[in-house]
Amino acid sequence: MDNCLFCKIVTGQIPCTKVYEDENTLAFRDIDPKAPSHVLVITKEHFGAIHEIPADQGSVIVQLMNAVTEVVKRENLVSEGYRLVINSGENGGQMVPHIHVHVLGGRSLHWPPG
Ligand code: 5GP
Ligand code: ZN
Repeated sequence: MDNCLFCKIVTGQIPCTKVYEDENTLAFRDIDPKAPSHVLVITKEHFGAIHEIPADQGSVIVQLMNAVTEVVKRENLVSEGYRLVINSGENGGQMVPHIHVHVLGGRSLHWPPG
């Protein structure tokens, strides 16, 4: 999508610090980290949110979550734990309308979130 920030990161128009990449997904460090480890995992294809992924394209969700698993391992978050967050829409606090999973770890995280 032309005007999408994360699509521009996928194409390299905007730089990022890559943590993991494969054919369908990309993971990079959040520019404003909320935890010692804060990585965003995205699909290379543009989807606005999880509910915009068509039911017959469920493999996209599998690819995304497999990339999340890879990031969790690379960031050494398995033993101490971590949190996955997908913000959606205005009430969800989504700022960038391109699906992304926040992987947060490296400190104790509060619950419930604000
Ligand atoms: P959201 O609020 O949409 O769930 O999360 C968007 C995230 O993208 C925020 O945590 C924000 O810090 C991050 N972000 C915004 N612009 C950039 C950028 O240009 N590069 C990187 N790496 N992260 C960004
Ligand atoms: Zn996009």
